[in-house]
Amino acid sequence: WVKESGRSAYRFHRPRRDVDLLARMRLDHDMRQALTAGQFALRYQPQVSLGSGQVVGAEALIRWRDPLRGDIPPVQFIPVAEESGFIVAMGDWVLQRAVEQAAQWWRAGRRMPVAVNVSALQFQQARFVELVDQTLRAARLPAELLELELTESILLRDADEALRRLEQLAALGVGMSIDDFGTGYSSLAYLKRFPIQRLKIDRSFVRGLPDDGSDAGIVNAIVQMGSALNLNVIAEGVETEAQREFLRAAGCDEFQGYLFARPMDAAAFEERVWSEVAQ
Ligand code: C2E
Ligand code: MG
Ligand code: MG
Ligand code: MG
Repeated sequence: WVKESGRSAYRFHRPRRDVDLLARMRLDHDMRQALTAGQFALRYQPQVSLGSGQVVGAEALIRWRDPLRGDIPPVQFIPVAEESGFIVAMGDWVLQRAVEQAAQWWRAGRRMPVAVNVSALQFQQARFVELVDQTLRAARLPAELLELELTESILLRDADEALRRLEQLAALGVGMSIDDFGTGYSSLAYLKRFPIQRLKIDRSFVRGLPDDGSDAGIVNAIVQMGSALNLNVIAEGVETEAQREFLRAAGCDEFQGYLFARPMDAAAFEERVWSEVAQ
């Protein structure tokens, strides 16, 4: 740490950072135990077609319920897990659980693609493609029922290596999307080269719809780009009818958001998605 202006500043900053570091170490330690103690769970958020109104997919989102701290949101523990490397073990667990769930639905005659968030460190593991392949085989899940959500930063870090890996994953038959699209630095050249199928418009651009002119312009541009590149486009964080109507008129394919449903456990998801269809 930097000694800023004199003694008092030094004294002020040092203990605070120690506390912060300790808190993160503690959290990391607790997370590792939480995995074996079964305190992690997945929630599934429906992805809905703007054309048909049908649920066409589900995004798996991790939840951690700590007996002392209560529910800890992913924004708090994912960055710590990324920093410590624990995200790799956690990501393996998420992949396995989500694939097992999709396979269970598949065996029950329910075709429901499940999307899994992939962290940069996880994607960079040499064994990642192999792991995805083995997980799909073990669960006997058709590869097209798994989608990997990648971020722009993953793809840009080492673009040639990333491209190789994406091509191997594409050869397995899994779907791939770019999450939080618009917040990173994807160039059009990359979008053209990478074998991805879908763009997920970041919720920060959806929030201001339909009134905010910049958000409206950005969303229209992403949808048009998606259509030109033959990519499916889904908007995340849709909370209002007005947002959904804007997206539908813009030509966006699908949406995800509290307007339709919050992330739910598998039983609630089944109830919501399939009991309505049956009636
Ligand atoms: P994300 O992948 O962009 O996921 C979308 C987030 O938006 C989720 O937050 C979801 O609950 C939330 N969301 C969905 N609809 C709405 C809405 O209408 N309004 C608002 N305000 N929010 C909505 P969540 O579950 O807290 O996850 C936050 C982030 O944590 C995710 O962003 C993802 O980056 C990360 N994450 C979650 N689960 C996993 C995981 O299993 N592995 C990895 N590597 N990252 C994960
Ligand atoms: Mg996501
Ligand atoms: Mg996202
Ligand atoms: Mg987002």
